[in-house]
Amino acid sequence: MTSLPLISVDPDARGRRPSMPPRHLADLDLSGRQALVTELGEPAFRAKQVSNHYFGRLVRDPERMTDLPAATRERLAGELLPTLLTPVRELACDDGATRKALWRLHDGSLVESVLMGYPDRVTVCISSQAGCGMACPFCATGQAGLTRNLSTAEIVDQAVYLAGVAASGAVSGSPPRLSHVVFMGMGEPLANYSRVVAAIRRLVAPAPEGLGLSQRHITVSTVGLVPAIRRLASEDLSVTLALSLHAPDDELRDELVPVNQRWKVSEVLDAAWDYAATTGRRVSIEYAMIKDVNDQPWRADLLGRLLAGKLAHVNLIPLNPTPGSRWDASPKPVEREFVRRLRDAGVSTTVRDTRGREIDGACGQLAAAGDTDGDSRAATA
Ligand code: SAH
Repeated sequence: MTSLPLISVDPDARGRRPSMPPRHLADLDLSGRQALVTELGEPAFRAKQVSNHYFGRLVRDPERMTDLPAATRERLAGELLPTLLTPVRELACDDGATRKALWRLHDGSLVESVLMGYPDRVTVCISSQAGCGMACPFCATGQAGLTRNLSTAEIVDQAVYLAGVAASGAVSGSPPRLSHVVFMGMGEPLANYSRVVAAIRRLVAPAPEGLGLSQRHITVSTVGLVPAIRRLASEDLSVTLALSLHAPDDELRDELVPVNQRWKVSEVLDAAWDYAATTGRRVSIEYAMIKDVNDQPWRADLLGRLLAGKLAHVNLIPLNPTPGSRWDASPKPVEREFVRRLRDAGVSTTVRDTRGREIDGACGQLAAAGDTDGDSRAATA
């Protein structure tokens, strides 16, 4: 059995001093930005101007902020928009409909985000931590452990940056406007709770305060930190909750999602149903299909019994095998039988598409591989 990971403890609180990035306007709400700009000796309305460039126009280059006096542009941009993410590599696949970005942070940590275009929407998948402390054995990010929490602005900037990429028309066959954000990149979002919630507030606030996305279009995916799920339900937010269940029984889930040793299947599902009741939002149950591990018909039936009649939708994810892992994806006929049994139990079920496979877009493999292996992994750019 895997040992219990450190849970919902900010690394800052553990005595180690992680190197947090410089302050950025996306760390602050609009009144915080106005106070800061005033402190810098500028009129408060400059906060709105710079915010409008960043969130409204997706512009971060001071040269293009022509409504600001030339002399103050550089200084204000330097103070409010320090560079947080340096692109190390950008890869594309699926004929340009999927783009993955690998970023280096100011302390050298690597994180990644994925931009996915569909005919009717554009989604970004963003990271909330550098690494992850949850130690799920099938997840590449989980193998390396946690480096540090991302700051609010480091989280938001991934979405803003890729919203700019989408706006440039780079995602073929999709609308130019970013519409959806999923916290399914690296890290456990609810273990970086306050920064993630602040980031969500920036993502949903209308410009110039934020990016103006719909709350319903934001999905927070968690291993199931029960107190944090309950706290999230009490915020005045109604984002979609995705629960990484992966097994319907404690014996197997203790192994696949080690935090289950702390909060059992029944407890985490209770918290999910309370979340659904409070927010009116259907909970998404994530289930990676792992050959001969969690894909047996009896587990489908057990899962069906747990979920029948609940405000839930099952998202089956074909396992993306990590290098050196002993596990593989379930064969398609096994997957189909699993889906059939869940649907027979009255549970709405879909199989997740496997966008970004060619560029390791599914689960932290690129960042885990580092940035030393050239562009050999890039598919059709
Ligand atoms: N820590 C959060 C969010 C990040 S992972 C969470 O666990 O929910 C996003 C989803 O991808 C989770 O459901 C996770 O279990 C799943 N995942 C991780 N590695 C995977 C892999 N190798 N194949 C398929 N899904 C994987």
